[in-house]
Amino acid sequence: MSHKLHEYVRKRNFHSTSEPSSGRAAARGRRRFVIQKHDASRLHYDFRLEFGGVLVSWAVPKGLSTSPRDKRLAIQTEDHPRSYGDFEGVIPDGEYGAGPVLIWDAGAYRNLRANKGRDRKSMEASLKAGLIEVWLEGEKLKGGYALKRIRSGKKSQWLIIKMDDEHADARRKPVSTQPNSVKSGRSLRQIKRDDRATHGAPESK
Ligand code: MN
Repeated sequence: MSHKLHEYVRKRNFHSTSEPSSGRAAARGRRRFVIQKHDASRLHYDFRLEFGGVLVSWAVPKGLSTSPRDKRLAIQTEDHPRSYGDFEGVIPDGEYGAGPVLIWDAGAYRNLRANKGRDRKSMEASLKAGLIEVWLEGEKLKGGYALKRIRSGKKSQWLIIKMDDEHADARRKPVSTQPNSVKSGRSLRQIKRDDRATHGAPESK
């Protein structure tokens, strides 16, 4: 078993996901993605793809669409540790990104560019080249998504677009119709309330 594969199995065992933890899953290139809905100074969705041992991350102000006509702006942010993908709760006042976070969607994903013959690219190479194509197997989002870099720099700008496949659906609008956590069913407001109850801060009116 390669070092990478060991790493993969270790990670899968750590997470309580429904993904198979066998080497066969790794051989097929299934990895984890998560989308965290985060009400910081401005509401946004943190889209994170696990590769290279971290969660490569983008902030998507409007969230992901199921319509291939929508081009959603995604600003690349700092890589996060893998364990952050399980976080749901409140980032305390005074800390960067203060505010409630919920796991809006999560699941396995595949690199669609891994099997393109001579044009095949790893996730790392796709990131570098500014074109990522993945197949998501989330609870809310499924199917192909393309991320295309439109402006380089420290916080590079990308567009994330639903590919036109059997999961494309212009009417679904999951950001508004399925707003709550796939982990706990809670809304951002409930997460805030639960956090206040836990930490004993006074209830605001
Ligand atoms: Mn965020």
